[in-house]
Amino acid sequence: MDVIEKVKRGERIGLEEALSLYEVDLFTLGELADSLRKKRYDRKSFFNINRHINPTNVCKDICKFCAFSANRKNPNPYTMSHEEILDIVETSVKRGAKEVHIVSAHNPEVTLEWYLGIFSKIKSRFPTLHIKALTAAEINFLAEHHRKSHDEILDLMIENGVDSMPGGGAEIFDEAIRRRICKGKVESDRWLAIHRKWHERGRKSNATMLFGHIEERRHRIDHMLRLRKLQDETGGFNAFIPLVYQKENNYLNVTRFPSSQEILKTMAISRIVLDNIPHLKAYWVTSTINLALIAQHFGADDLDGTIEKESINAAAGAKSAQGMALETFVALIKNSGFVPVERDSLYRELKVW
Ligand code: SF4
Repeated sequence: MDVIEKVKRGERIGLEEALSLYEVDLFTLGELADSLRKKRYDRKSFFNINRHINPTNVCKDICKFCAFSANRKNPNPYTMSHEEILDIVETSVKRGAKEVHIVSAHNPEVTLEWYLGIFSKIKSRFPTLHIKALTAAEINFLAEHHRKSHDEILDLMIENGVDSMPGGGAEIFDEAIRRRICKGKVESDRWLAIHRKWHERGRKSNATMLFGHIEERRHRIDHMLRLRKLQDETGGFNAFIPLVYQKENNYLNVTRFPSSQEILKTMAISRIVLDNIPHLKAYWVTSTINLALIAQHFGADDLDGTIEKESINAAAGAKSAQGMALETFVALIKNSGFVPVERDSLYRELKVW
């Protein structure tokens, strides 16, 4: 197949070529993605010791795939106090966390200072802890709700101690699909523009893609190509994170689950298409740890981290969302034939386990 030869020669592929890779048998595709992964990292698999915190689930938006926000199917609104958040952070730091990953719903009932105070208080108490916080969707919400520009919100994030941006809120960039699953949320162009502005400030971010719902394969490739284009210009994305759609407790009414084969093919094609984004993360909370370990053979070089606790995907039925002990995590990576490498949030190697 021409496209396979092209990838082997190190040439870029376009939308139709990438789509045709879905027709290649799983093992040939895996081998191709694995060879690209090996060139960069050999058998290293990266992770970090992190803690996910979701400070509020009160949301003005109504994304159909969401089971996290407080609504009729999940009538338990909560908003944490700064003290509660600091207590969680303190416990995690004592356990060795080097990063907090803070993502919230779009809560119109709290002030901008409530959002920003989370970061400034964490930073002043734990100056070396890396704060990864506020998705482009949250930034767009805060800007619109508090009548600020995106630039102003981004500058306030930096002033208050945010180090990098997570990749959430990207979902699927195709506008027609986006209208059906998350109408009203940040538009695709804006999501990309916010990341561009963040990169222009010398900062790093990640990019996600939610797949396995109503989108078609070509929408996934289109999503990757839009990211590849921006990355060519800024170089600011550290990692691409394909997230498997979770089907429970939401209003999308998609009850099927993408097959393991479809998930692994999507991982492998991500590695091939996104030749300029260094890391491909198998986010085990949504794919299950077993499939994430196998994904290491399909181009993934990063298994996120120990996580400790995660609420967003847990609400939607993810069975793996309660974190994992470090020893277990390390042993699983070793047993799967890879070398666990603890990294910091910017992918500097801290320890080879
Ligand atoms: S995905 Fe985020 S923005 Fe959408 S409803 Fe859920 S919490 Fe709100």
